[in-house]
Amino acid sequence: MVSRVIPVDPFDLVIFGGTGDLARRKIYPGLFRRFCSGQIGPETRFIGAARTELDNKGYRKFVADAINEFYPEAANSRKKLNAFLKLISYILVDALGETGWDQLADIADADRVQAFYFSVAPRLFGDLAKRLHKHGLAEDNCRIVVEKPFGRDLESARELNRVLARHFGEHQIYRIDHYLGKETVQNLMAIRFGNMLFEPLWNSQYVDHIQITVAESVGVGGRGDYYDRSGAMRDMMQNHLMQLLCLIAMEPPAKFNPDAVRDEKLKVIRALDPVGMDDIVRGQYEGTGDRAGYRIQVGNRDSTTESFVALRANISNWRWAGTPFYLRTGKRLRDRASEIAVVFKDAPHSIFDEDAGRHRNILTIKLQPNEGIELGVTIKEPGPGGMRLIDVPLDMSFAEALGPEEADFPDAYERLIMDVIRGNQTLFMRGDEVEAAWAWTDPVIAEWETLGDEPLPYVTGGSGPDEALMLMHRDGRRWREIKA
Ligand code: NAD
Repeated sequence: MVSRVIPVDPFDLVIFGGTGDLARRKIYPGLFRRFCSGQIGPETRFIGAARTELDNKGYRKFVADAINEFYPEAANSRKKLNAFLKLISYILVDALGETGWDQLADIADADRVQAFYFSVAPRLFGDLAKRLHKHGLAEDNCRIVVEKPFGRDLESARELNRVLARHFGEHQIYRIDHYLGKETVQNLMAIRFGNMLFEPLWNSQYVDHIQITVAESVGVGGRGDYYDRSGAMRDMMQNHLMQLLCLIAMEPPAKFNPDAVRDEKLKVIRALDPVGMDDIVRGQYEGTGDRAGYRIQVGNRDSTTESFVALRANISNWRWAGTPFYLRTGKRLRDRASEIAVVFKDAPHSIFDEDAGRHRNILTIKLQPNEGIELGVTIKEPGPGGMRLIDVPLDMSFAEALGPEEADFPDAYERLIMDVIRGNQTLFMRGDEVEAAWAWTDPVIAEWETLGDEPLPYVTGGSGPDEALMLMHRDGRRWREIKA
């Protein structure tokens, strides 16, 4: 099978924060891969815009170094890399002042798509939107890509939506959640709505519960300052995990188009019950030496910010009433592993002896580190020993099923940037969705603050505080092992 790459028309992409960490690690390596695939043509222009003093030559070197570091395969494509670097230029721009804006406006080409990637601190988003508008760069061919975090609570998200809306229409605003750009996440929709097999079973009559885990093995690293003001609830739960929950739980949209999909996701968020304090556990990792504890790493001895959160969510609608969703995310856990597990109910009656054992079907959607989908089915253990049942995976690893070339799909950022250029907002969060998500998480955070709640300590390399295990044990269920 040979993958079909559909080239996009030449476009301009301005990367505000073009000398930052995200540009280096994700944006440029991703763009280069799309260039190598033939999706991006030689008339496209990439313009780095940041506050560092650099000329084009210096900036191209910065980009080349970034690509070599974060996409080592580039070493085999020297010629391609040189061709790619020719598309790149740099303008010194100050989001908070006048520097660079006239120059940016002068090179603008009204006949092509112009995308502006806000890869800067969120406090600059409003200023960038305002100045783009002021310099005639908010016309219909213009779009803005907004990084996370989108606000830190409902009020700030609303305010940010208001500010952006003053200068850009909703159809021009692309709020990134890179989890939605993952191949498997999109495949989740293909599996649900492209097959007859699953959808009839996709409800509380057949699904016992759903687990969503986004586990990291690393700590806060160099982001301690930011993270300590945010925490797992704001940094991960409000966006990534809730987006995954929405895709699993939503009703079939009438069409696979942006508003139809986003309307259905919004309905899920609005149908979520408020989370009671008994249904949520927050933790903070401990550690020593090389693997120092959270408080040491963030340099705040009294920090009460959580690096782990687990909760039980209930969706009050016809499809899901009675089927709990268990969500957890944290740092310094046993492994870097993200997955969604749809655990089906037991067969209503077993025709086999007790010795045969009882088994359940589990559909596992693996997001990290390797993407793939696995369906656990029950079969007879081979051999003459009578009827004993075992679980075996019907493994749909993309690499095996499609061949390595076909499975070498774009990473989330590449795909999402290409969607911006094509004008497809399906995988981006709409303003009202983000607000609804904050409206659900805000009361929990407020209650922690009112109660002066202290996160529970947990050991590095485990699966979070014991109380998080209890969240499921008390319902007669258990978390799946965190395993890459
Ligand atoms: P960074 O601190 O590494 O880079 C910031 C960039 O902004 C630099 O290029 C700097 O020159 C530029 N800048 C600062 N002030 C400016 C001004 N007044 N005018 C113009 N440019 C200015 O930040 P980062 O890690 O690249 O993150 C960028 C954005 O992406 C943030 O919103 C962050 O939350 C988000 N994000 C980053 C990551 C990541 O992995 N780095 C992941 C998810 C989201």
